[in-house]
Amino acid sequence: METWSTIKEIQPRITDLLVKTLEKDRLAHAYLFEGSKGTGKRMVALHLAKSFFCENVSGPNPCLECPNCKRIENGNHPDVHMIEPDGLSIKKHQVEHLQKEFSYRGVESAKKVYIVNHADLMTVGAANSILKFLEEPATLTLALLLTEQGSKVLPTIHSRSQHLTFAPLSRAVFLDKLVAAGNSSTISSLLASLTTSYDEAMQLLEADWIAQARSVVIQLMEELYARPTQVLFTLQEKWLPLFKEKSQIDAGLDMILLWLRDLLFSKVGKVNSLTYIDQIDLLQQQALTSSQDNISKKMSDVLLAKRHLASNVNPQLLMEKLLLNIQEG
Ligand SMILES: [Zn+2]
Repeated sequence: METWSTIKEIQPRITDLLVKTLEKDRLAHAYLFEGSKGTGKRMVALHLAKSFFCENVSGPNPCLECPNCKRIENGNHPDVHMIEPDGLSIKKHQVEHLQKEFSYRGVESAKKVYIVNHADLMTVGAANSILKFLEEPATLTLALLLTEQGSKVLPTIHSRSQHLTFAPLSRAVFLDKLVAAGNSSTISSLLASLTTSYDEAMQLLEADWIAQARSVVIQLMEELYARPTQVLFTLQEKWLPLFKEKSQIDAGLDMILLWLRDLLFSKVGKVNSLTYIDQIDLLQQQALTSSQDNISKKMSDVLLAKRHLASNVNPQLLMEKLLLNIQEG
């Protein structure tokens, strides 16, 4: 189960700030958590709710044992409310419905927490209902508004809440997450080197694309050194059918770049930093026959190809030229 210390490994700056605020007992009424998918917004919101409700809270730390902590953990605390979009927006009646429910049921405590997921989808009416609620003197209400698109959140919400930006995950944290989600260590290692965005990783994983792409890149890199006459054939037969869209070619170029970086790491003995962790033998073998300058020059060639890709160059010509350049080295 999370604690502020485990959360700090994922979002250090935000954790420090919230822990300090809790220690001083100075929570704001409303927070806007902005960050891309998978950066821990919901986890932080739920943990903050535990600190807010815990019966045995010690400084900023909830006990995680009391009925309040347990009910938040299980998603059935009567005064912690998750609001999700109903279709394309979060409507006024969704908020009002909750408020009515409170008054019928008889209030469990004077404290309430609203967690609004995709707060950018709140209609003006829904936003005003939430804001009105925050001003009620009888209750101590905390609104945690979560969004992936802060710029689309209504100005009234922006001006009335404290804005916290969730940083992208570190490679190490993202790597752990990918492995925990059941991806192999070789694929996770490559994905985490390519991106720390959850959405991008999911796209690359679609239809097993990343696994196929990875093996084509390894084959090409092996042939460049061992069987150069084979390279253009492999490009034609295997690369072009798989790397079709611009985004895919760009990811492919990044994969080549990561291979070359692995060569540099192998040369200087930093094998713990490798992306292609299972290719260490091949990498070390290639590193023996390449100088650092030579590898750096090849990396510049790939970066140049990435820039050319951005303008509308024919993808086949682009790749042919790049592979020849790398071969000549
Ligand atoms: Zn507790």
